[in-house]
Amino acid sequence: MGKTIIVSNRLPLRVEKGSKGKLNFIPSEGGLATGLGSVYKGGGNVWVGWPGVYFNKEEKRRLTEERLAEENMKPVFLSKQQIELYYEGFSNSTLWPNFHYFNQYAIYKRTLWEAFVEVNQKFCEVVLEMAKPGDKIWVHDYQLFLLPGMIRAKLPDISIGFFLHIPFPSHEVFRLIPWRKELLNGVLGADLIGFHTYDDMRHFLSAVSRLAFLSNQNGRINVGNRVLEVDAFPMGIDYNKYAEKAASTEVIKNEVEYRTSLGDQKFVLSVDRLDYSKGIPNRLVSFELFLQKYPEFRGKVSLILLVVPSRDQVDTYRELKEEIDLLVGRINGQFSMMKWTPIHYFYRSLPFDKLSAMYRMADVALVTPMRDGMNLVCKEFVASKLDKTGVLILSEMAGASKELSDAILINPNNKHRMADALKEALEMSVEQQQSHMETMQATIKRYNVHHWVDLFLGRLDQVKAAQKEMDTKNADHQVLAAIEEVYNKANSRILFLDYDGTLVGFKSMPELAAPDKKLKTLLEKLAAVKNNRVVIISGRDHETLESWFGDLDIELIAEHGVWMKRKDAEWKLLRQLNLDWKDKIRPILESYVDKTPGSFIEEKHYSIVWHYRKVETGFGELRAREIMSHLKFFAESENLIVLEGNKVLEIKNSEVNKGKAAELWLEDDEYGFVLAVGDDWTDEDTFKAMPRDSYTIKVGPEVSDARYRVNSYKEVRKLLEKLT
Ligand code: UDP
Repeated sequence: MGKTIIVSNRLPLRVEKGSKGKLNFIPSEGGLATGLGSVYKGGGNVWVGWPGVYFNKEEKRRLTEERLAEENMKPVFLSKQQIELYYEGFSNSTLWPNFHYFNQYAIYKRTLWEAFVEVNQKFCEVVLEMAKPGDKIWVHDYQLFLLPGMIRAKLPDISIGFFLHIPFPSHEVFRLIPWRKELLNGVLGADLIGFHTYDDMRHFLSAVSRLAFLSNQNGRINVGNRVLEVDAFPMGIDYNKYAEKAASTEVIKNEVEYRTSLGDQKFVLSVDRLDYSKGIPNRLVSFELFLQKYPEFRGKVSLILLVVPSRDQVDTYRELKEEIDLLVGRINGQFSMMKWTPIHYFYRSLPFDKLSAMYRMADVALVTPMRDGMNLVCKEFVASKLDKTGVLILSEMAGASKELSDAILINPNNKHRMADALKEALEMSVEQQQSHMETMQATIKRYNVHHWVDLFLGRLDQVKAAQKEMDTKNADHQVLAAIEEVYNKANSRILFLDYDGTLVGFKSMPELAAPDKKLKTLLEKLAAVKNNRVVIISGRDHETLESWFGDLDIELIAEHGVWMKRKDAEWKLLRQLNLDWKDKIRPILESYVDKTPGSFIEEKHYSIVWHYRKVETGFGELRAREIMSHLKFFAESENLIVLEGNKVLEIKNSEVNKGKAAELWLEDDEYGFVLAVGDDWTDEDTFKAMPRDSYTIKVGPEVSDARYRVNSYKEVRKLLEKLT
């Protein structure tokens, strides 16, 4: 088994320059560091990231590197300018505001982008120094969005996971970024891409489909020959760490101390980093509104506002800080009494035992971000409530709200609702508090950070295993050689070949996919080999097949087996089928064409096809599902089936399929060599009808009953070329 390499912008520790050139290494207590501790500290595993300091001297770098190696860490040294442009710049002034729906703050500058590419490349080089085939690489967060693709380019088979810790915005917002395509292509280098919520995942898939033109099936995307998966993995906290801390004597002592100095009153707690995404001003205004609307709470409830300093050199953040200072001043000025202060404001970071005491003490946690990937504060509050009292007011815009439906959920823009929620929370009966808290604790305990790590890494293994399984089915040199050998030995052979997607690529209009000269020559040569029968088995109508292949010495099955033409014979109907249903289906499909620009109907003798290749992405799929459900009962009673193809729906008589038609050919003779090739699921009927030792080949990555697979029609042509 290979090692695991974790990569994130920052290493899980802080390096500080002490006195006399001494370096201090202070471990981080962040959620990710705790969760991944069990991973990177083990065996030959390693965590790659920026150590948080600048060193110009080679000597210092070497010392740091050696010291970090003892902790299973590997530094990526960056210059001050790189941090400015890549981290403060593209990561935090382009991606962060865009991904949090604060486009008014997003900066789009080429120099920032170039630095972003350069630093991702630098991370890639460090990873490549260590990575070996068979290793697992887990890349974290938006600062390293391009890294999966860069690693993939050098190590095509390595296992790469990517997790985004912030929201992924709607495609409408994401597409504003000038380098949106490059960003997507970068992250699509991963095998597994994780988000906190289903909504983030949905937005990502929609961006991939609209901007990179890659569709997905339940989150599975085919990029070239590789299938990658996208899913939601809500990140948890180290539950026991918070619960145990809250029970410790030092934390209880802290709480007693706070209560003694603050007196007998209730507390509402607010904890965040200084960031516009956290919605702190709205929260303050709502608290003010609460005191205005419900004066009976004045003197009885205080807000403890803890804001952790962050980026306050940046204009936007400095302005936010000033706004908060003003609001706190205004509210305290307006409502303060000799014995009561409405807001206790701390602009600093608190050590764990003090924060834990605040969680313990708070009657209400007011967590109201405008947008937050997950939000861990609300989970930490819940885990710290040992007696299960306390109420959580939580913004719908936080990822955590998807798991914590027992909180009072609010829209952070609705200040009146927030004020009312405060009243509701403060008046909630103890029984009700405990009942909600119990449910939330059970959830957070179960989906803790260790569970999250196991789930993600386990899934990455599964994705890789599934890829390998597909690989083993790949028709590689050996398989092709075996096919050739059996083919050469056999004295009677039959080859069933689907047409669209198997012998030619897809075109926007079905009539544009006529066979090229090369293909016709190839088929002619193949059919001319002694004892060969070449059968084109297609969903196309027989007139089209006749016009394309009538001049060749090959056999044709049209419309999935309704019409057939054997060697030296005329076209023949399978049998007379009732066609009355077409008059009923046609107007229904017409009504869908009327309301779906770009779609059209193709009428065949024994089926009707609704095409939506040129319809707006997503819209066509939606309409296709509507048609499916519209026709469900009708199809059953009329003995029809509705087939889903590549951007088409085909409605036909259920007694007709390619497999049944192919069986008629198989009955003709004993063949020493049988080959069937096809790309969509109508070809699955052919595969199923083939004798056991036949060679069945699926074109494309989807699940199939075929024995082997190839990636595109070009490979099919190559194989046939060999058989001539
Ligand atoms: N936190 C801290 N010191 C403090 C206040 C908060 O270490 O004085 C921690 C808090 O415990 C939580 C994290 O900061 O784990 C904030 O995480 P969250 O997901 O809520 O927000 P982020 O800052 O990552 O956007």
